[in-house]
Amino acid sequence: MNVFSNSSFDHHEQVSFFADRETGLRAIVAIHDRTLGPALGGCRMWPYQDEQLALQDVLRLSRGMTFKAALAGVALGGGKSVIIGDARTAKTPQLLHAMGRAIDALGGRYITGEDVGTNPDDMREIRTQTRYVTCLREEDGGPGDPAPLTALGVFSAIRAGVRFASGSDSLDDVHVAVQGVGNVGYRLCALLRDAGARLTVCDAHAPSAQRAAADFGAEVVGEEDIYDVDAMVFSPCALGGVLGEGTIARLKARVVGGAANNQLVDDASGRAMLARGITYLPDYVANGGGLIGCDAEWYGRGEDKVLERVRGIFATCTEILERARRDRVPTNEAADAIGRARIAAARENSVAG
Ligand code: NAD
Repeated sequence: MNVFSNSSFDHHEQVSFFADRETGLRAIVAIHDRTLGPALGGCRMWPYQDEQLALQDVLRLSRGMTFKAALAGVALGGGKSVIIGDARTAKTPQLLHAMGRAIDALGGRYITGEDVGTNPDDMREIRTQTRYVTCLREEDGGPGDPAPLTALGVFSAIRAGVRFASGSDSLDDVHVAVQGVGNVGYRLCALLRDAGARLTVCDAHAPSAQRAAADFGAEVVGEEDIYDVDAMVFSPCALGGVLGEGTIARLKARVVGGAANNQLVDDASGRAMLARGITYLPDYVANGGGLIGCDAEWYGRGEDKVLERVRGIFATCTEILERARRDRVPTNEAADAIGRARIAAARENSVAG
């Protein structure tokens, strides 16, 4: 297995491999960068076909967390962990305890949380072995469901995008097409409706779309038709990989911003959006509200402070959009550049201090 020559290796500080004979645990923890604080990132459990794919994933995801934290303005670095195995069949309390001991052995350099294949109940199990855990339920002293903060962040990003694209601070009568009205999308619709927006939604689960229609007067369209809606804003809140050559060409929206992770199919997608004059709000910035909640949980910050920081996604998006316009680059590249600059500045300060 190649680590340092892996295409996703990017000067990661530490990559640790853990195995436990008793429980069958096979896990990798990647700490990408701790300049801004301890490395935080979820624990993914997935039946990777081979170890190389698991390594690739953990390297890529931990690097992504460094940038997400830098753009969210939190005192956290980037990390991630993966457990190789099927969460439906191989996950046992004992295996999670072994993972907890592995995380504890890192002495606080890495803090875990839920991700694909893990949930707050699993975090409770891990917590029996280590204090370096977030995403706990309210009854366990955590913030509970991150979706309300994520929705508020996406809402703040959309406001910034609309102001940038149209010059208007108001969402009154602005038409927004929301793809996926689950935990985040539904709450986003509530915020948009309260701000006066008109809504069109779609969802693969018909009752979810019907609920948005009943509660917010949203028009419902088919899953494939959402890209063609004549709306000012398109908000992907279902799946990643939805912004590619084919879909971008169909969009009538002038602003794109939503909760889904990894919305761009590839780098060319960011460039295609720039070429079409679409204001794209980078996904990892728009959906950073949950991470701001984790930061608050970890550092014990009060609720007022959290809401203020999540609303701060408006200012961050504005900074990104202005920089992208100035440098004539896709907004995702502008966001990465701001993240890199923030980390470099913090590194210089710590060296100087
Ligand atoms: P969710 O599962 O509650 O909602 C997703 C919704 O999308 C579901 O209602 C599902 O039926 C629908 N859907 C799935 N495929 C679809 C398709 N092809 N077309 C239309 N609808 C489809 O998830 P969520 O918590 O609301 O998260 C939404 C997205 O945001 C996910 O990609 C998630 O990874 C990302 N995200 C969520 C959070 C959070 O706080 N929950 C934070 C960051 C990122």
